Amino acid sequence: MTQEIDQRVDEFIDDTQDCEEREQAYRARGTARPITVVGNPVLHSECRNVTEFDDGLAALIDDMFASQRAAEGVGLAANQIGVDLKVFVYDCHDDEGVRHVGVVCNPVLEELPAESRVLDDNNEGCLSVPTAYAELARPDYAVVTGQNAAGEPIRVQGTGYFARCLQHETDHLYGRLYIDRLSKRERKKALKMMEEGTPRYETVPNA
Ligand SMILES: [Zn+2]
Repeated sequence: MTQEIDQRVDEFIDDTQDCEEREQAYRARGTARPITVVGNPVLHSECRNVTEFDDGLAALIDDMFASQRAAEGVGLAANQIGVDLKVFVYDCHDDEGVRHVGVVCNPVLEELPAESRVLDDNNEGCLSVPTAYAELARPDYAVVTGQNAAGEPIRVQGTGYFARCLQHETDHLYGRLYIDRLSKRERKKALKMMEEGTPRYETVPNA
């Protein structure tokens, strides 16, 4: 009766196959949209859960891949193109140089045991904080559970830069930017970099 609903997802999806073909198919169907930037309310509150796994969602995902490519990003959350829904896409390499392409709806970051956490303090940037970057320590391994575009449960794991990406994109959908994790001083510095730079892609002007 409830067996299917209660089924746990233990296996990780393989998001490394046919990356080029899959990514290209998405963005060929989609249209690039301008990117929202820090200050836009859609980026600063939790997005709504995806409940309809329909053609509208598929079209949104296509636009997200097109927008991600146009802005040369490695991950993109729906609120970065102004849509208040919990879905992110990614096209990102891990520390072994393996490319990962995929979509996660309603992502939840799994808590990892503290003893297995190794912090990596590489630079981080965000399309919604154009031209800025800062050092930010994050665990170098991450696991996200959620659903695919068809609503089926999935589990995604990442190492290195891809682990950073999974954490960064999940944060977005809960209304949190990476600069919100910086010290006051570092945050100010990042915002100043943004003020002084010119984004190389189209952005949504803040009201
Ligand atoms: Zn971002």
